[in-house]
Amino acid sequence: MLLTYQYKLNPTPEQVVTLETWGELLRRHYNYALSERLDWLNRTRCQIDRCSLVSEPIGKIPDKADYYTQASDLKRTKELFPDYKNIYADCQQQNLMRLDSCWKRWLIPDKTGKRGGRPRFKKRSDICSFTFPRVNAPKAGAHLSGNVLKLSKIGEVEVILHRPIPEGFEIKQATIRSKADGWYVSFSLEDKTVPTALPIDEIKTATGIDVGLEKFLTTADGQSVAVPQYYRKAQATLARQQSKLARKTAWSKNYQKQASKVARLHLHVARQRKEFHYQVAHWLVDSYDLIIFENLNIKGLARTRLAKSILDVAWGAFLQIMQAVAVKCGKLTLGVDPRGTSINCSGCGERVEKTLAVRVHSCSCGLVIDRDWNSALNLLKRGSVGLPIPVCGGLDSSQPVKQKVSFVSLRCSRYTACS
Ligand SMILES: [Zn+2]
Repeated sequence: MLLTYQYKLNPTPEQVVTLETWGELLRRHYNYALSERLDWLNRTRCQIDRCSLVSEPIGKIPDKADYYTQASDLKRTKELFPDYKNIYADCQQQNLMRLDSCWKRWLIPDKTGKRGGRPRFKKRSDICSFTFPRVNAPKAGAHLSGNVLKLSKIGEVEVILHRPIPEGFEIKQATIRSKADGWYVSFSLEDKTVPTALPIDEIKTATGIDVGLEKFLTTADGQSVAVPQYYRKAQATLARQQSKLARKTAWSKNYQKQASKVARLHLHVARQRKEFHYQVAHWLVDSYDLIIFENLNIKGLARTRLAKSILDVAWGAFLQIMQAVAVKCGKLTLGVDPRGTSINCSGCGERVEKTLAVRVHSCSCGLVIDRDWNSALNLLKRGSVGLPIPVCGGLDSSQPVKQKVSFVSLRCSRYTACS
């Protein structure tokens, strides 16, 4: 199992200067290496309907640039630009490897036939980071002992170890990155054991979850979690700070101060949202053995008028987090096709047409429940076919059910240990 733990660093002002210089030099080198690759590509290709006069290469065509040629060029880079001698060699290789994987993701489709976008040049304001590929190994560039991280060519940096590194895990990599409020280190931790997933015949509880804009999610038991709307709540403050920023002289000292304020606000909103996602995910995983969710087309939904709300709830990020938490805790998740889940009746299966504005599902069979609850029940039905779950599926259609929506308090689940 692979985990990433992130800790804040407490570097001295001199170390901050070194870290920033490394980031900037590696950024330039990345851009140079990318331009080398793009140049080779442009010179050896011609659009099919163009005259060769238009796209005839001028001069000698350079050799194909790949990771190996670029890595062997590092020696020459250090001769031409002596500043690169002060950077730990493995970090420079990792920088090129990162480019290499971006490049391959762009040109070579993966199993599903999807490709990434064209690698972009990194701007000066882009977040810079660099990786030490080995930690605590002989000849490694980074050593962590206690709360001191010893980095080759940088020195000893204090790490704020707000939680211990879990037992049984080996530190594989250390990535140093800068954020709006300081420098951080992310350790990739590896444990050779694979967490065993729950066998299918041992599933005792299952639920379907329906995500929405009105309520963050509704489970098949009718419990729901409210949308926290972190971005909407922060919008007024953000707007004020951003208009302050617009009044400053560009790139002046005060402008930079204000820009950092705005960046930290955004960071705060992102962290609040992530924390909330983890709390909900742990609550679900602790309460149920199997969680059935809908495979949504979030990219498509985010192009509509509801974009801001949809991106603010960030279901996609949540579903990813939930799946990761479930794997870690040995529970199961299942994505199902969401088509028709809000239309069909969970009691009798009849179609009950309704628009988005209709929030209550009321069927001729006597079932009157919240619309999201009905979808959650449908999802559960769809995903739990053939599973030995005692109580699942539709509600008893003979008795009309009163809607009971309990807003779950998540505070208690925050510190629930997950074994
Ligand atoms: Zn019905």
